[in-house]
Amino acid sequence: MNDLDYWRQVLNPISKSFCAAKWYNATIWLGSGQTTSCHHPPAHSINLAELANNPKLLHNTPQKKQDREMMQKGQRPAGCEYCWRIEDMGQTSPSDRVYKSKIYPIEDLHRAAQTPPDQDIDLKTLEISFDRTCQFACSYCNPAFSSTWVNDLKRNGPYTDLVSDGRNHFTHEHRGSQLYTFGEENPYVDAFFKWWESDLHQTLQELRITGGEPLMSGYTWRLIDWFRDNPGRSNTRLAINSNLGMPREKIQQLLAACQGIELDIYSSNESMGTQAEYIRDGLVWQQWVDNMEYILDSGKVRGLHVMCTINATCLETLPEFLDYLVEWKKKYGDGALSFTLNILRFPSFQSPLVLPEHIREHHRQQLSDFLARHKHHSYLQEHEIAHITRLYDYLAMVKTPHSESFDMPTLYHDFKQFHQQYDRRRGKKFVLAFPNLAEWYNTL
Ligand code: SF4
Repeated sequence: MNDLDYWRQVLNPISKSFCAAKWYNATIWLGSGQTTSCHHPPAHSINLAELANNPKLLHNTPQKKQDREMMQKGQRPAGCEYCWRIEDMGQTSPSDRVYKSKIYPIEDLHRAAQTPPDQDIDLKTLEISFDRTCQFACSYCNPAFSSTWVNDLKRNGPYTDLVSDGRNHFTHEHRGSQLYTFGEENPYVDAFFKWWESDLHQTLQELRITGGEPLMSGYTWRLIDWFRDNPGRSNTRLAINSNLGMPREKIQQLLAACQGIELDIYSSNESMGTQAEYIRDGLVWQQWVDNMEYILDSGKVRGLHVMCTINATCLETLPEFLDYLVEWKKKYGDGALSFTLNILRFPSFQSPLVLPEHIREHHRQQLSDFLARHKHHSYLQEHEIAHITRLYDYLAMVKTPHSESFDMPTLYHDFKQFHQQYDRRRGKKFVLAFPNLAEWYNTL
């Protein structure tokens, strides 16, 4: 069944807002004690009381139970605004609640819809972050997720005059995002390993570790060691989000340690060469390419996936980047590599919607040309075509990055303010990295 039919014939009859992710999927940040259902809704805090007795409360928070009840009644939880905005564009672009539900059997969806909303649910897919240690400081990231971003603020002080940064992502070190250092007792990490040992290792289908950069966290290696020391005890697939910005030996160490484990690797990138190095500060383009090819050549992973964060600056070389991925698909087989396009909403001044209409139109044409180029062969998966089409529509139809967004003059102001300060701190030059945007940028 294709995605649109699934949306109309499976999800909507359960309820117009039902999404299985609210029951079966979670992202949990153990460094800060926060969780959400998928990466779109804002994170909320996990209550420490009772956690030691019932580690399932890492996932089953009062907020999620309330959202489940709303979804059972067909009401829209506010935190899922990303999906509602996509759905309100019309009936041609399925939102992520399709992709986040489709991965589970239909019986499980009906079971969730009928389960009393206050009941604890066992997770099937989990993304977990142990800490924020990371050697990158990407432009669209912030200190809550990267220790290198923290160092930028420690060294250079807060970013100033960003009017639309209502959540103060760039003004302080976000100490609350890393309440404990490695080796220090962390009740959230303790609860996770307690739950993992008791039954999570049996009920969970996929465990995905995110960061920071997970390969820099000692807890990631503790978990990998658990798999090595307990062969056959768990059927959970392991997935790791990695920026792949490390020496080859680290990748070799990971692949060797994961022998016998079903492993997927997810890496982020969305543009080519110099532009990628500008956006994802810390990345060395050639090292990323070499590590990707090394993993593909090794044949040791179940799948390699590229997550593209669609922001204002990546669009010029995004089609070329996707062509690059298609070449890998041709060489290694379609199943070896896939990609997703995730449209950035925060920080809103880096949204692709800040671009003036004529530049957005130019990018729509490029996307259309890309799809035309690849129309007659089967290297693109259905969800990949849907994501490109969705972005094509989004650039024309959506006017503001999110409902609390500021007016465009404010976002233009912040775009310039941010990049001027980013250039000074990181030794970069926006107009050299993005000559296609220089004329517009200089008018801001
Ligand atoms: S944002 Fe969308 S995909 Fe995520 S939990 Fe909400 S409805 Fe599901």
